[in-house]
Parts: sequence; C-alpha cells; structure tokens
Amino acid sequence: MRETMAGDVEMKLRGPEAYGIARKALQTMEKLQVWPTPVNYELWLHSLADPTGPLALELGRIISSGEAFTDGIADELAAVYLPKAKLNEQIRDTGDALTKELAAVSRAIQSAQKSSEAYGQTLASASKSLTGDRDTSDVKAMIGTLATATKQVQRENKSLEKRLSESTAEVARLREHLEQVRRDATTDALTSLSNRKAFDEEFDRACEEADIRGEALALAVIDIDHFKSFNDTWGHQTGDQVLRYVASVIGGRGAPPRFAARYGGEEFALIFPREGAKTAIAALEEIREEVSSRILKRRSTDEDLGAITVSAGLAERMPGETPHAFMERADRALYAAKRGGRNRVTCAETVTTAAA
Ligand code: GH3
Ligand code: MG
Ligand code: MG
Repeated sequence: MRETMAGDVEMKLRGPEAYGIARKALQTMEKLQVWPTPVNYELWLHSLADPTGPLALELGRIISSGEAFTDGIADELAAVYLPKAKLNEQIRDTGDALTKELAAVSRAIQSAQKSSEAYGQTLASASKSLTGDRDTSDVKAMIGTLATATKQVQRENKSLEKRLSESTAEVARLREHLEQVRRDATTDALTSLSNRKAFDEEFDRACEEADIRGEALALAVIDIDHFKSFNDTWGHQTGDQVLRYVASVIGGRGAPPRFAARYGGEEFALIFPREGAKTAIAALEEIREEVSSRILKRRSTDEDLGAITVSAGLAERMPGETPHAFMERADRALYAAKRGGRNRVTCAETVTTAAA
C-alpha cells in the first residue's frame, strides 16, 4: 500500500502540479526557518505531494512541537520515509543495466560460437577436397576461401574481445555503483559513522555470534550532555559541528572489530565484540576524557564554546539475552550516568543468580 502511495507522489512530482508543489515547499521551509538543504527540500516536497501521508503527519507533529528541525531529525525522517524507494530504484536500475550487459555478452559469445563452427566446417570440407587429385587452380581457390574464412574469424574474435573488455569495465563500474549505494544507505550523512539501520543489523548479528561462540559482548550508549541548551546558546549549525567532533572521537575508539554508530540525534552506540566490561570501560573513559578536555571554538567567530561532556552507559551481554533487553540495560545505565551527574561512564548491573 505504501508502494502505491510513493508511486502517486512520484507521479504528482512529474505532473502539472509539480512546480506549484516545489514553490510551496521552498516557501514553507522559509516560513518555518528550515534550511533548504537537499534532504529538507525532498522531505517537504514529498510531504506536500502527499499531505495526509505518514511523512506529512510526522513533519507536522515535529514542527508543532516547536522542536528545532535539525539535520539529524531530517536524516532520520529521510531514512524512514524517503530513500527506500529511491534506493530500490537505484538498485533496480543497476540490476537492469547488469542484465542488459550480460545479455549482450551472451549474444556476442553465441555469434562467435556460430562463426567458429562455420570456420570448422570450412576447414573440414577443405581437407576433404584436398584428399582427391587437384590442380593448382583448385588449390588456389581453396586457399583463397580459407584465407577469407580465417580473416572473418579473426575479426569476430577481435570484436568479441573488445566487447568482453568493455563489458568487464561496465560490470566493474556497476559494481562500484552498487557498493556506493550500499555505503550511502548505511552511513550517517552528518558524522560519516554508521547509521541506525546499519547499527541495528550489526547489533543483532553481534548478539547472535556471541551466543553461538559463547563469547563476551559489550554495548555502550553514549549521549552528549545538555546538548539542547548548547544548541539553544550556539545554534544548531555549531551543534552539528560538535556532533561531528564527538563522532570522530568515538569513531577513533571504534575501529573494527568494534562498531561505532550514530544511534539517534545526539546519541551514539558502540559495540564491543569479544570484550567484557573492563576494556570497554577503558575505551569509554578515554572517549569521555578526550571530549571533555578539549576546549572547542566556534569556527565562524572563534568564540570559546567551553567544554562538551558526554555520558555513557555500558552493559555486558548476558547469554541468551535478547538484543532489545540488552540495549535497554545499556540505556538504563546511561540514565544512571545522567542522574549521577553526567560526564561519566556507568556500567549496568549484571543480574546473576550466583551468590556474591
Ligand atoms: P542530557 O544531558 O540529559 O542528555 O540533556 P540534552 O539536552 O542533551 O538531552 P535532550 O534529549 O533533552 O536533548 C537532545 C538535544 O539534542 C535536542 C536537540 O536540540 C539536539 N539534537 C538532536 N539531534 C541533533 C542534530 O542533528 N543536530 C543538532 N545540532 N542538535 C541535535
Ligand atoms: Mg539524548
Ligand atoms: Mg543529551
């Protein structure tokens, strides 16, 4: 059903109302003081083309809540409501191109097979006729036929070779394109960390693997402290710079096999495969210290922004625990860190039946 609606929106955006909708999208964004970024523009375009659809409702809810419309929010909305169709379209186009390419190559190979069969027949009949008594002119004529046939096969082979090497290049290009689409779909545009979707998949996978191998697994949720008031004081653009900075510090401690992601607006998640609380806490403490020790400056005016702090909640996986329950414990640990005064790392209790 959503498919049909997305299709209807696409049709509207290519119909007589399209320019009116586009103008209205810009006007609405200006009125709401939302930056006309490509993502925002696409969100408003789609919401105006389908004003009772889920995206329009969600946009309406956010705007009327008075919440600032940040890039983070826009990206989340886009991830939920927009790119799927676009992504599917890109993947379908690439798939179509690959199918065409393969069909062309198989045609070229078939035609080469045919001409080499014909060549074989020419050679066979030549050798048959050579067995009898032949005068020079017959032999000459035959050599002429053979030379022509050989040239023909050579030409065919050359053109097949050329076709195959073109094809190899085209397939490589398409593969690179698919890879790019896949990267875009799993990367957060603002911070370049993995996005929520990629995190969800990786997290489920990591939990499963820990169960199968009986290995440890730790999960951290990291949240910037008092970020709303930072945004209120310095503006969202500066807030976005801070998000990028914090993401880079987290990413620096989240190299594979660890997995760092932007989980939501100003929340990050770090997966620690085969690690227990001890090394995970050490990494989180490093992140916390590095973030809080740096005095940030506003890029545009060089003003001192003071120090930013982060709080982190950590949980160690209990065997067989669902990813959801595991995440909830890490979340609760984060809230404990917030309640405890922020700028700290708190580890979730592990519930065990063993006596202490
Ligand atoms: P706490 O210490 O309890 O976490 O306080 P907080 O203000 O950080 O928490 P709260 O959840 O109330 O506010 C989160 C704020 O993060 C709201 C929003 O202004 C900001 N935020 C979320 N996503 C983005 C983003 O993409 N860019 C910017 N600049 N700000 C964002
Ligand atoms: Mg938060
Ligand atoms: Mg916060």
